[in-house]
Amino acid sequence: MLYVLTTVEFVIPSVLNKGAGERKMSIDASTLGEAFNIVSDIMGDDFKRRVIDINGKPRALINIYINGKNMRFNNAGMSSALKDGDSIYILPAVAGGAEITSQEMLRYSRQIMLEEIGYVGMEKLKDTKICVVGAGGIGNPVLTQLVGMGVGSIRIVDRDVVEISNLHRQHLYTDSDIGKVKVEAALDRLQKMNPDVKLEAIPISVTKYTAEKIVKGCDIVIDALDSIDARYALNDACLKLGIPFIYAGALGMVGSVLTILPNQSACLRCVFPELSEDEMPTCSTEGVHPSILYLVSGIQVSEAVKIAVGQQPSLVNKLLYTDLNDLVFDKIQMNRHDECPSCGKNAEQKDVNIPSILVEELCGRDRGKRTYTVTPAQITNQVDLSHILKIAKSNGYVLKSKGNLGLTLSNSNQLLISFLTSGAATIVGAKNEEEALSIYNTFTQELKPKVS
Ligand SMILES: [Zn+2]
Repeated sequence: MLYVLTTVEFVIPSVLNKGAGERKMSIDASTLGEAFNIVSDIMGDDFKRRVIDINGKPRALINIYINGKNMRFNNAGMSSALKDGDSIYILPAVAGGAEITSQEMLRYSRQIMLEEIGYVGMEKLKDTKICVVGAGGIGNPVLTQLVGMGVGSIRIVDRDVVEISNLHRQHLYTDSDIGKVKVEAALDRLQKMNPDVKLEAIPISVTKYTAEKIVKGCDIVIDALDSIDARYALNDACLKLGIPFIYAGALGMVGSVLTILPNQSACLRCVFPELSEDEMPTCSTEGVHPSILYLVSGIQVSEAVKIAVGQQPSLVNKLLYTDLNDLVFDKIQMNRHDECPSCGKNAEQKDVNIPSILVEELCGRDRGKRTYTVTPAQITNQVDLSHILKIAKSNGYVLKSKGNLGLTLSNSNQLLISFLTSGAATIVGAKNEEEALSIYNTFTQELKPKVS
């Protein structure tokens, strides 16, 4: 008889190794049953009792994976033949000391069942911190999915307040949220959806001066923005800090998605080197179909989950382009470029002169009024809203809404101002940049940071 030696790797997680860390062993076995007998002999009776029932079969709560595939999908059971180089992983579904509680097993059962996520993937998701930049059309469905799936912690970043024209597509918000700071309204709603997820809300504008601080400490960044300059800033910050960055854009009926693994794959500027804010069409001029937002956000979430659980994402060096009109899905091959100003050989040095304050014009809001954001370069998160309110009242403003992270004011000249605790403000109805800045200064001249 010809005897072929089959060497396989057998991995025992810490929880089945008396908490002494993961144990890997290399053994010779031609079937799963044989491998189990050998490992049980090595590990001892306690291990055997916890893993195998009296009939010699794996206990109900024990999951065995061969090359990442749960063997319960395999009809041969313990007689499953092993191939040289196979990797076997064994895991109890609910066990003392494991990271996933029995309550979580119930909540997430339908995704733990998925071979692509599984128990180990769920543990990894719980251990992941994702920054979602933008809580608008794309951000809403991205956040809903990530929070539902139990990603460990999520940072929500946005500078806007809820407007009535948002509600057809931004389904985290209701009529009663109009005028509220988006990140605050989103956080309230999402926390009710899943109290286990750690949520953090940052009411700030993304600029090249704030981008790095915004993404720092996160494992994955999801782009849900509507401004190209802010996207470039995020791209550069993620390249610098080595954080995977998932871009998406959607407008009208079309959308696109790209996954960027920093300094490994094509970055946003390799793909779109010279987009200009002024030439970009926007939702307020072109309109947007809510379906395209759900489509691209679903793909972003799938890419993020792949990264979180340790799989290769699908849109690396590939720009997905999709159009609802004829429902085409094109994947366009992209490459890194040596000439790229962000990730190429001669990547530009970043500005060192940080202005103390940044004024930008946004695309026209309701009724075509000119809209400006004013952002201090330093994120303070310490602006005292009651102080702002006092100044507002003595200057003839009326309070429209107030939350913990911001307030909205109006006056008799149809001016609308939203002030955020980060010190950023959105001013609707100013004639020009100078006026926007001078209005802003009315509020901040006597402003002193709150002593915390
Ligand atoms: Zn690049």
